[in-house]
Amino acid sequence: MTLERRKFDSLVIGAGGGGLRAALQLARDEAHVAVVSKVFPTRSHTVAAQGGMNAALANVLPDNWHWHMFDTVKGSDYLGDQDAIEYMCRAASNLVIELEHFGVPFSRLENGRIYQRPFGGQSQNFGGDQAARTCAAADRTGHAILHTLYQQNIRAKTHFFDEYFAIDLIKDDEGFILGALVLNIATGEPLLIEAKTTLLATGGAGQIFRNNTNARINTGDGMAMALRAGIPLQDMEFFQFHPTGIAGKGMLITEGVRGEGGYLLNADGERFMERYAPKAKDLASRDVVSRAIAIEVREGRGVGPDKDHVLLKLDHLGADVIKKRLPGIRDMARTFAHVDPIENPIPVFPTAHYTMGGIPTNRHGQVVVPLKNTPEEPIPGLYAVGECACVSVHGANRLGGNSLLDIVVFGRAAGNHIIDYLKEHRYHRPLNEASVEAAMARLTRWEQKGQGESVATIRKEIQKTMEHYCGVFRRADVLTEGVQKMRELEQRLADVRLQDHSRVFNTARIEALEVENLLQLGLATVISAEARKESRGAHSHVDFPDRDDIHWLKHTLYFMEEGRLEYKPVRMKPLSVDSFPPKPRVY
Ligand SMILES: Cc1cc2nc3c(=O)[nH]c(=O)nc-3n(C[C@H](O)[C@H](O)[C@H](O)COP(=O)(O)OP(=O)(O)OC[C@H]3O[C@@H](n4cnc5c(N)ncnc54)[C@H](O)[C@@H]3O)c2cc1C
Repeated sequence: MTLERRKFDSLVIGAGGGGLRAALQLARDEAHVAVVSKVFPTRSHTVAAQGGMNAALANVLPDNWHWHMFDTVKGSDYLGDQDAIEYMCRAASNLVIELEHFGVPFSRLENGRIYQRPFGGQSQNFGGDQAARTCAAADRTGHAILHTLYQQNIRAKTHFFDEYFAIDLIKDDEGFILGALVLNIATGEPLLIEAKTTLLATGGAGQIFRNNTNARINTGDGMAMALRAGIPLQDMEFFQFHPTGIAGKGMLITEGVRGEGGYLLNADGERFMERYAPKAKDLASRDVVSRAIAIEVREGRGVGPDKDHVLLKLDHLGADVIKKRLPGIRDMARTFAHVDPIENPIPVFPTAHYTMGGIPTNRHGQVVVPLKNTPEEPIPGLYAVGECACVSVHGANRLGGNSLLDIVVFGRAAGNHIIDYLKEHRYHRPLNEASVEAAMARLTRWEQKGQGESVATIRKEIQKTMEHYCGVFRRADVLTEGVQKMRELEQRLADVRLQDHSRVFNTARIEALEVENLLQLGLATVISAEARKESRGAHSHVDFPDRDDIHWLKHTLYFMEEGRLEYKPVRMKPLSVDSFPPKPRVY
C-alpha cells in the first residue's frame, strides 16, 4: 500500500476547545499547523459543556484568583499540583475577556458585565460564603466557546483534516515524536502526517463506563496512543461521577441548575444535602454530592418504583429563570426524562463524567515522564492539553467550571511553548520507518476478521465491568476481580469479529480501534484504583475510608507493559504564594 505523506510545523490531534485554542495560538503566529479530528470540529465534545467557565471576575460577588486557587486545591483533595493551579487561576480572568473579544456571546448582567453563577465547591475568602465564579453563555457555554474558536481558526488559516482518525504516534530512536499515522475515515486510506511537534487534545474517556454524560466518540484515543508509545498515564483511578445525570440515561443536568437555586430531594421529600454538607449543601463538591445520593438510594430513601434515584427540584425558580438561564436543560429534561422542570422535578442519579487522570504534562503542556533515577523530563516534540492530559489542576476531584478553563489556559500555554520550540527546531528530523511500520501494523491487524464475538459486545462488556467493579464506591476484593475481568476481555478482544465488508465500511474498523483504546484505558483505571489504599476525592474505597496523606499524597503513574505502577510526588509549591497544606475537607 502506498502511504501518502504530508508535512506541517505542528500537528494538533483533536479539535475540541483544547486543540483549537492551541492551534489558534500557532496559526496566528504563522506556524503551518494541521488539526486532525475524527468528527467535524464543532461536533467535538466541548460543544456539550453547559454550565460555564470559572474566573474570579467578581462581577456578581467579591472574588479574587487566590480564593479560586484555594477552592481548586481543596476540591482536588490536595492531589492537584499547586504551581499549575496557581498558573490557571491567575490566567483565568484575562482569558475570559480574550474569549469575549474573540466573539463568545456570554450572558449579561443588567449592568452589561459578564453573567456569573455559583457552582459547587466555590467560596469567598478561603472557605467562607458561597462565591459566584462561573461565567456562562446560558447553559450552552461550551457550544459558544467551540464555535467561536473554530471561526477564529478558519480566519487564521489553520489547516483542518476533518473526519480523520489518529491511529498512533511516530517516534524516533532518540525519543522525539515526529507526527502520527491517521486514517481518512471516508476513504479508508492511511495518511502519515510528519510534524516537528505533535499535540494530543483528544478529550476524555467517559465511554469506559456504561452510564455516562460523554459522547460516543469519547474513547480516550490520545491517552491510549500515549500508552502505546511507552508514556505512562497519571492518576487514572480518579474518575469523576457527576451527581446529576438523568436517572437511567446518564445525560448531564448541569451543576448550574443547583447554582441557580435548584436542590435535591429524597423519597421523604427531605433536602438531604443539609445533612452531608451543612454549609455548602447542594453546592458541595461533586464527589461529596455523588456519594450522598448513592448513600440515600442504598439506604432505601430513593425515589421511583425501584427507589433508584433522587429528585432535582427547580420549579420554584420560576418559568422565566428556567427559560432564560437553563433552556437547554429544560429541553433535555423534556426529551429524556419526560418531565418539564417548570412544573416537576427531574429524576437524577450519579453518572460517569470526567477523566481527571491522563497524559502527564507540565504547565507548558509538554508531556513529561520520569526517567530512571532522574527527575521527569519532557518528551521532545510531544504536548498534551485538555481532558486527555493531567497537568494536574484537578487532582482527585475536578471542580465544575474548571475544565473549560483548563482547556483554554493550557491550550494557549502549549501553543506559546510550541512557538518557542519551533524557533529552536527549525527542520524536520529524519523519519523512523520502523515506527511507521508499527503504526501501520495496528491498522492492518484490524483488517483481519477473527471468529469470536462482535466489537459491540466487547464494548458493552467493558462498560458493564467498569461500572460494576470500579464505580462510585470501591472495595478491595471487587477491584481485584475487576482487574481479572478486564484481562479476560483483553483476550476476548484479540479474536473479535469485524462486520463483513469492513474494508469498505470503515466504521467497523474505527469501532474496533476505539474499543481497543477503551480496554487499555479501563485496565489503566482499575489497576491504578486497586493499588490505591485510601479514599481521596473521587476514589472512595470502602475498606480504606480515610484520606492517608502519609502514604498516598502522591500521583500514580501507570505503564502499559505488565500494568506496572510507579508514583511521583505532588507539586505542593505554588509559583508565588504560600502553599495550601492538606486539611480535612469539609463543606
Ligand atoms: C455534558 C458535559 C457538560 C460539561 N459541562 C462543563 C461545564 O459547564 N464547564 C466545564 O468547565 N466543563 C464542562 N464539561 C467538561 C468539558 O466540557 C470537557 O472536559 C472539555 O470540553 C474537553 O475538551 P477537550 O478539548 O479536552 O476535548 P473534546 O472537546 O472532547 O475534543 C476532543 C477532540 O479530539 C478528537 N479526537 C479524539 N480521538 C481522536 C482520534 N483518534 N483521531 C482524531 N481525532 C480524535 C475529537 O474529534 C475532538 O475533536 C462538561 C462535559 C460534559 C460531558
